[in-house]
Formats: sequence, structure tokens, C-alpha cells
Amino acid sequence: MSEVKFARVAVPVPLFGLFDYSLEKHQQSVSPGCRVEVSFGRKSLTGLVMETSQTSQLPANKIKAIDRVIDETPVLPGAQLKLLQWAADYYHHPIGEVLFTALPNLLKQGQSTQVRGEIIWQLTETGRLLDPSELKRAVKQSGLLKLLQQMNGIISAEHLNAVIENWRPAMQGLEAKQLVISKEGPCLDIRSTEAIPAPPLNDEQLQAVTDVSASLGQFKPFLLQGITGSGKTEVYLALVEKIIKQGEQVLVLVPEISLTPQLIQRFKQRLGVPVAALHSGLNDRQRLCAWTLASENKVQVVIGTRSALFTPLPNLKLIIIDEEHDNSLKQQEGFRYHARDLALVLARNTDIPVLLGSATPSLETLNNALKQQYHYLKLTRRASNAKPPKIELLNICNRPVEHGISDILLSRIKQHLEQQGQVLLFLNRRGYAPLLMCHDCGWTTECPRCDAHMTLHHHNKRLQCHHCGHERQAPSVCPECGHEELFSPGAGTERIEQALTECLPDVSISRIDRDTTRRKGELNDKLAKAHSGESQILIGTQMLAKGHDFPNVTLVGILNTDQGLFSADFRGTEHMAQLIIQVAGRAGRAEKPGEVLIQTHHPDHPLLQTLLHQGYEGFAEAALAERKMARFPPYAHLVVLRTEASRKEACMAFLNEARTRLQPLSSAAVEAYGPLPAPMEKRAGRYRAQLILQSEQRKDLHQLLRQWIPGLGKQKTANRVRWSLDIDPQDMY
Ligand code: ADP
Ligand code: ZN
Ligand code: ZN
Repeated sequence: MSEVKFARVAVPVPLFGLFDYSLEKHQQSVSPGCRVEVSFGRKSLTGLVMETSQTSQLPANKIKAIDRVIDETPVLPGAQLKLLQWAADYYHHPIGEVLFTALPNLLKQGQSTQVRGEIIWQLTETGRLLDPSELKRAVKQSGLLKLLQQMNGIISAEHLNAVIENWRPAMQGLEAKQLVISKEGPCLDIRSTEAIPAPPLNDEQLQAVTDVSASLGQFKPFLLQGITGSGKTEVYLALVEKIIKQGEQVLVLVPEISLTPQLIQRFKQRLGVPVAALHSGLNDRQRLCAWTLASENKVQVVIGTRSALFTPLPNLKLIIIDEEHDNSLKQQEGFRYHARDLALVLARNTDIPVLLGSATPSLETLNNALKQQYHYLKLTRRASNAKPPKIELLNICNRPVEHGISDILLSRIKQHLEQQGQVLLFLNRRGYAPLLMCHDCGWTTECPRCDAHMTLHHHNKRLQCHHCGHERQAPSVCPECGHEELFSPGAGTERIEQALTECLPDVSISRIDRDTTRRKGELNDKLAKAHSGESQILIGTQMLAKGHDFPNVTLVGILNTDQGLFSADFRGTEHMAQLIIQVAGRAGRAEKPGEVLIQTHHPDHPLLQTLLHQGYEGFAEAALAERKMARFPPYAHLVVLRTEASRKEACMAFLNEARTRLQPLSSAAVEAYGPLPAPMEKRAGRYRAQLILQSEQRKDLHQLLRQWIPGLGKQKTANRVRWSLDIDPQDMY
């Protein structure tokens, strides 16, 4: 065998292609997937070896030597490299950036894969026995001691950060009194516990478990469709249990895990084995720790958001994607990938099944299931004998609506409260009102930087743009005409809360949105009170729509449906339907039957009618037929070239040049639309425009892209705009 002399290295720069470096004799055992330190331009960068070779195309005097080989064994094993290479090709994104999106931060920075444990605090014997009330003069210390005693005597800084603000001085106090000691703990809480036994599965659940089990060891996608509460999670758990018994690994992808701590808790409790939860709340060290433990098969269950897909799992036997329709599976900036779609690629490459679960599958997935490309599994009943909720449209045309709540809805809220029910009100809009307006001249609170109104926030009397963050004091008289009567049409969660507090003073009301859960621990507190039933009315945004299980909720009110009925985005109605079904699923999960009221001015709207009478599947069938007519996904494939610049003309010039370059390359199979202004043309002070490509065959589209994209950066109009490509866009914003 002749000597390996060169390494092709991916570096984290926005350039396509790999870069050749020469290897010294002692470096020649380096294998693909290992990190190296190289000089690039005038910088020293961490790169990743993709290939080694005996030859290089470059002239010898142009080739630099590798400065240092960092890893002896690959940080990205073959399966991951192959997946990421595929992704770089498919999303037409520079491989270096793709690889470095996948790696934990500390590995990007060239640090060792060995991780140190974090500092934990442990109760001493005295601390264990001391009654916290004896520390009554040090309230914070007393609270900490109590918490530690509840937590089995051990707590980490991370956990403390999440639940208590400024806890360190109190902890130092406890340490000084020798009630606690600090020491280095494991890098992740991976204690095993006793497993809680599973309920016996019903026929449909068993069928699902049997079918997926029978496919272990081969590539096969499954769609598990079941309404909220139908027992999908129990199906996942049964499968995971089976796989970990055989010493193998499972990956579970979920949307926005930080909002669903209960799910992780449920997995831990039911399985009794360590579960690595990868979410945005982890610090760099914990993330690396989870990565390392998973890649060494020391944890068998990894639950995480989209980027968890890139964790090396040598014994991976199944991928589960919960809420597969959720938009957060798609990364919307930088390397724009869809974790669901890439999960299928990984599964195909490694011969394992994928289980996609949802109450409201995306139309893409549903179409695949209907075409029998995916095996279609259904759970049609609620598992725990709970009846499905009754959905009703509340026609509010010509009815009194005060602060966003109609008289009929208010009376139904009172009814449910009288019967000890809990009420959940869903409203897709935070703040007090979406704008402020002059009664005399019609002046409105337009954002100076966006094509949007600034939202009124009542508690601090401020106007805030929810698109760019621009803020100012709310005026008390019209800045245009000086008129003193300003009014605020429409309602957000803050207004609903205020109105209900006024008319139901004895009821405990809890608002859960980004504004009320900014501080540490607030969300968990509010969720706990929601679960226990202590909060009688819950008012919330999307934060409440997903994943939570509030067993006492008997009435769900959906307040501003109408907004979503007339969306400019072709996926608007799909998202609206999904949201309604998801929110509705929060009602009546336990013994008490649930009721869902949808407040609307358009009770005859076909979307609402179909959803009401034929359910999500009926809606989906109609929506798919529309997509087919309009040649939208899943019947055609889209690519968006987006631009933004401080001048509109710069965007247009760039897109026009791009379009002109397209003409000689283009075949009849690909159509181009635009350049067109983006639906929100101005945002954060910059103009935005886009060019859309559409084709029925992916192959035609990608063939064209391969010839077209490399020239985009070289266009003479390119330096005046920021541009980006979005393959299979989810939002046409
Ligand atoms: P989903 O994930 O579809 O929303 P879950 O798996 O969370 O549904 O199940 C809803 C509730 O029903 C949970 O409280 C769960 O413990 C319970 N449950 C699920 N399957 C069964 C079963 N076979 N027997 C009894 N209870 C079940
Ligand atoms: Zn005015
Ligand atoms: Zn703005």
C-alpha cells in the first residue's frame, strides 16, 4: 500500500469544496471524521478530515501542511459523515458549515472530547436531618435546604439556575454552616431509577408496536397518526423499552423540548435508564457530555430537538419523531435543513425504521402514507377512556365582543368554572392589542423599520414591534393631529387576562406567554399550577398548544381563529388546522368530557366546516386536492432564493441577474417566479425580495441548482445584498 500524503479538509467557512493539506509521516494514520488544526488564509481554524489521498491536484508549492491532528478516533463516524455530506449536496450548503453545525461548540473550538464533570452540591448528614424552618432567619437558605431535601440531597448548578435566581450566596451560607458540600459530579445526570410499569396496551397500540418491531433492522418509514391522548407516547415507550433491552440505541426527536419537561420525565420514569436530553438549555459542557456518552453507547436513549439528529449513535436501531408536522424541525437560518427529512436519509443509510408520530401529520407525510410509501398506523381512540372533545363554532357576527371575548363564550366559561372545570383560552398573540389608532385622523402605530404595526403592551405603556424588537413609549395623544382619543382595536393575551380579571375577580387566572415566562422558573411554576388545577383559567399562546397535558381542562376556547383563515402563505390553512386540533386536544383528557369553542366571524368558512365535520383527515384530503391543482408541495418542489438589502433596487438587481443566468440553464421542467417582494417587504430596516423556483421533479430542480448556485456569489450585483437559499421552504415569509 502506498503512503497517504494528503488530507481533504472541510473548514467552517462559507465556501464550497474541500481544501487539500499535506500530512507529515506521523500524521498519516489520521482518518476521515477526525479534527485537525490548519492555517486558512491568515487564520488558524479547526477543520475536519473528509478524505485522505495519495495525490493532490494542487501544485506542491500551494499546499500547506496540517498543523496538528486533534483526534485519534473520528468525532464524526462514517454514518454521520455520509449523512452530512448528503445534506450539504441536497441543501447546496458549504460542507464545512454543515459539519460544524452538527458538532457541539466545544468540539468546534478544537477542545478535547474528554469532558469534566460539573460541580454539584450535596447535603451533609447534618443538612439531611436539619428542619429547614430552623433557618427561618435566612429565608433563601431555608428554601434551598428544603429543595435539596426534596431532590434526594443532590443538586446541580444547572438545575439551580433554572429554578432560583441568584442562589449562590445562599448556597455559600449553607456551605459555611457545613450543611452542604460541593464536589465534582458526573457530567450529566444519568442515574438509573426503578422503572414504572407500562399500562397494558390496547389493540391498536399493540399493532403499532408489533409492526415497527417486525421492521427493526431494515429501512421502513411509519406514520403513527393518533389524536392527542390516544397513546402514541406509550407506543414509543414500548418500542424504546424493547430496543434498550437488546443493548441498542434509540433517538427521539421532539419540537422545543424546553417546553415539555414532562415528556423527558415520563421517559426517565418509565424506562428507568439514563436518558440524554439535548435541548437549548444545556451548556456547552453538558452538550458535549451527552454527545460523548451517546457516541460511546453509555446512554441508549437520546431525546432532543432537531440538531440531536447529528449525535453519533453507533447502535442506533430506531428513530422516533414526535409531532412530525412541527415547523421547528426545520432550521430557518444558516444551514436550513429539515430534521425529519434528514432522519429518513439517515434511516435509509443505516437500515433502520423511522416512526413519525402526530395527531395532525404534515400534508407531505400524509401523502406518503396515503401512497403507501410509508406504512400507515392509526390510533383512533383515546387510550384512557377519555371521550374526544366536542368541537363547536361560536358565530360572533353581530354579537357583543368585549376585549376579545364574546358574551356567549364568557357565559360558557362561567358554566365550566361553576362545575369545577378548568378553562384554557388560546390566543395566538401576546401583548394588549396589535396596534394603537387615532379616532380622528386614523394614525396607527406603524413600525418605522418594518411593514408591520407595533403591539401595545399595557403594563409598561409601551409599543413594541414583534418583528424587529423596536420599542417606544406609547403616546397619550395622537402624534399626527393631537387628538386625545386613541383606541386599540383587537386583543392580545394581556388584554384578555385584564378583562377576565375584572369580570371574574375571584377566579385565579394565569397567563402563559413569552412576556410572563421570561424569568427563570416562571414557566415551570405556571405549568405546575396549571397541572394541579390551582390556576382555574389559563390564557396562552402557542406555548400552551403543544405537548402539555392538563387533565382538569374541560373547556378550550380558541379566540382569534379568523387571522389564520386568510393567510398569504400556502401552508397557512394547514398550520391553522393543525393548531386548532392540537389546542382542542388539550380538553377533556381525563374523566371529565371536554368542550372546544371556536370563536369566529366566518362560521361557514370551508376550512372550519371540513375540520368540524370531517376532522383533520377530511381537511387534509381537501387541502391535498388544492395543493395538487396549484402545483404546490407535496406535488411539486420549491426553492426560494431570498435577498435583503438596505435598498430595494439592490435586491431586485441581484434577483434579476440571477434570473437571467437561469434562462440558458433552465428546462421546461423548472419554473421561476419573481423577483417579487417578500410578503413582509420591509423588516428591521431592510428590504426583502425573493425568487421562487418550482418543479415537479426534484431531480430536474437539483440539476439546475448545481449549475446555477455556484455563480450566485460571483454575480456583479452580489456584494450589495445578503442572499440565502432555502430548499423545501416551510415558510414563505
Ligand atoms: P399521546 O402521546 O397520543 O398524546 P399518551 O401516550 O400520552 O398519548 O397517552 C395519553 C394518556 O393515556 C396518558 O396518561 C397515558 O398514560 C394513558 N394511556 C396510554 N395508553 C394507555 C393504555 N393502553 N392503557 C391505559 N392508559 C393509557
Ligand atoms: Zn390623529
Ligand atoms: Zn419592526
